[in-house]
Amino acid sequence: MHVTTIRGRKIDVGQVAFDDLRARLQGPVHVPGEVAYEEARTVWNAMIDRKPAAVVRCLGTADVIASVQFARQNDILLSIKGGGHNIAGLAVEDGALMLDMSLMRGVWVDPERRIARAQAGCLIGDVDRETQVHGLAAALGFVSETGIAGLTLGGGLGYLTRRFGWTTDTVAGMDVVTADGRLVHASREEHEDLFWGLRGGGGNFGVLTGIEYELFPVGPEVVGGVVAWPASEAPEVLEFYRNLAETAPLELTLVALMRPAPPAPWLPKEMHGEPIVAVLACHTGSPEEGEEAVAPIKSFGNPIGDVLARRSYTQMQSLLDATQPKGRRYYWKAEYLPRIEPALCEGLIEHAHRIRSRHSAITVFQLGGALNSVDEDASPVGNRDARFVLNITGSWERAEEDGANIAWAREAWADMRAFSTGGTYVNFMTQDEGRDRLEAALGEGLGRLAQVKATWDPENVFRTNRNIEPA
Ligand SMILES: Cc1cc2nc3c(=O)[nH]c(=O)nc-3n(C[C@H](O)[C@H](O)[C@H](O)COP(=O)(O)OP(=O)(O)OC[C@H]3O[C@@H](n4cnc5c(N)ncnc54)[C@H](O)[C@@H]3O)c2cc1C
Repeated sequence: MHVTTIRGRKIDVGQVAFDDLRARLQGPVHVPGEVAYEEARTVWNAMIDRKPAAVVRCLGTADVIASVQFARQNDILLSIKGGGHNIAGLAVEDGALMLDMSLMRGVWVDPERRIARAQAGCLIGDVDRETQVHGLAAALGFVSETGIAGLTLGGGLGYLTRRFGWTTDTVAGMDVVTADGRLVHASREEHEDLFWGLRGGGGNFGVLTGIEYELFPVGPEVVGGVVAWPASEAPEVLEFYRNLAETAPLELTLVALMRPAPPAPWLPKEMHGEPIVAVLACHTGSPEEGEEAVAPIKSFGNPIGDVLARRSYTQMQSLLDATQPKGRRYYWKAEYLPRIEPALCEGLIEHAHRIRSRHSAITVFQLGGALNSVDEDASPVGNRDARFVLNITGSWERAEEDGANIAWAREAWADMRAFSTGGTYVNFMTQDEGRDRLEAALGEGLGRLAQVKATWDPENVFRTNRNIEPA
């Protein structure tokens, strides 16, 4: 027996008639004890250990509609899993019926209209692979294993953000199953309020089944990769990064990072585990222009490793994957920055020296460009003044190390907050971040989001997310 409390009422989810649900679906339903159940409930961050009542692996929109209707009829909480990458584990909830979208990974590209239609269970790599067949790309994120649904519903940033804006700025339409079990298409022409809310308001308004992305000519070859120096050169490297970022063309995105050197073959063995500073760069214009743009990085100081070169766009998109594997313990703190100041650099260097795990890092991703020229209220993502995002990423292996690593991230963040725009990224928020941080992420948009919620989900059916209560 597994008792859960839903809307103040105790429910024995063992008594819920999942056989009835099975009869309504094409995809399988998995319950505790099954291997597939364990796989589905396990998300990227090993700090999250929650047990849903059952998992539906949806095979199509009809399965999503049937599951939403079943959950409402039986008064069971719903949770939705895209790529399962959310650091706060928002995809999984104790006692809930989890809709696992991972079997819905189709991508259809219309090269004439430069539109890709992707099912909501896709990972970034699925979309990149299909769009690159046509020399096109959607403006998605930096790690190819991230789910597109959670990323897009929260904003979305990556190597193309400076050219085209947040991912949500490039969405042409979305298909969503609403709380009353209807399939609705939202775009600038249809259900404009819902479309606005979906582009930053998370999974508050329904279950996304498909997304239409605008595509842009990118690749197949770009110039990208990493150059690394010993941490002793960090003051000079960060000053160099600061200046280069000021003048970088929109095609070039620069990322500064400090961490213990990973055991990568391109870094000298004796440096593995030692503190380093690195610049990750990606130029998505022509390879010739890209080589010219990154030449100053390659010739700066005395690098200990350099893998900044021409490579395929899809390879670039998966370059960071190995540094963020599923199954480790993670704790992040993030802030948007308006600029890089010398005092910020000094603070980052100091906190990088106090890192408690060989997997942790302090990273500054360059933003700015196109996202700064769009109206603040064009979508709930807002933060149109962001020029960089600082992410303090604690990453370690054993539960006994939780305290030390979380304390390190919190201390670094507490010191570095002084340099923030005051905004943060909703998709980088951890479990312990509450309403004040949601306000920092979504700002004045929260009021309008509550209105949209009242129209589309007045009973707050969809609340295993960064919840916005109906107005
Ligand atoms: C290693 C790593 C790298 C990352 N890199 C980037 C990056 O480069 N750029 C960036 O912008 N972000 C990045 N992120 C953050 C990422 O955008 C968020 O973690 C996002 O929530 C992941 O989406 P997901 O579908 O994998 O999440 P999930 O954990 O599956 O879900 C997250 C939330 O979205 C909701 N959701 C998922 N699918 C649906 C759906 N079909 N319908 C309705 N709601 C749904 C869930 O209910 C949940 O509330 C990264 C995260 C990780 C862990």
